[in-house]
Amino acid sequence: MILSSISLLAIKPCTTGGGRIKFRAKLSNPVPEVMPYLNSVIKTGLYIPSAKTFTYKIENHIINIHDYDLTCTQLTNESECYEMIDHLFDLINETWENRENITPNEETRERPNAIQLYKLLPQKKGCRDCNQASCMAFSSKLILGTAHLKECPHLKDEVFAPNYLSLESHLQLLGYETE
Ligand code: SF4
Repeated sequence: MILSSISLLAIKPCTTGGGRIKFRAKLSNPVPEVMPYLNSVIKTGLYIPSAKTFTYKIENHIINIHDYDLTCTQLTNESECYEMIDHLFDLINETWENRENITPNEETRERPNAIQLYKLLPQKKGCRDCNQASCMAFSSKLILGTAHLKECPHLKDEVFAPNYLSLESHLQLLGYETE
């Protein structure tokens, strides 16, 4: 085993509210050598080798591993936090133990940019219902984490439901909470 333990350090409310909680935990040791293998196994993860950071999403939870730190968002109660810790403990150890059968991936998947987000917005000219000058201004704020998808009311239209899901995935890859 590469990890001998993961210890829960703190539980706090998620910044997005809704009664959800997030936790911070401490790894028994940093696991940078496992990250290229995790990056291969988890196809939607964001691995940044220079920062030795790996971020990915399971359902609505955003997981971040960096140095001794492990964080996870959008949990409902303390027992779910412990279940997630058990899951991550097994994932990291099993991935490492199985490394001979996994081709490590050192690539950083492309981070979404403002243009990509813009293309998914409703693009109603002169609308400004989000209090931004344009959809492009709104997408720039989304990238910076200073605007929220809910601020564009037109994204709630059924026709934009697939766009909303794509936008959520992009923003979660950047580490933002979207609920
Ligand atoms: S509310 Fe939506 S459609 Fe209107 S300008 Fe803002 S992002 Fe564009």
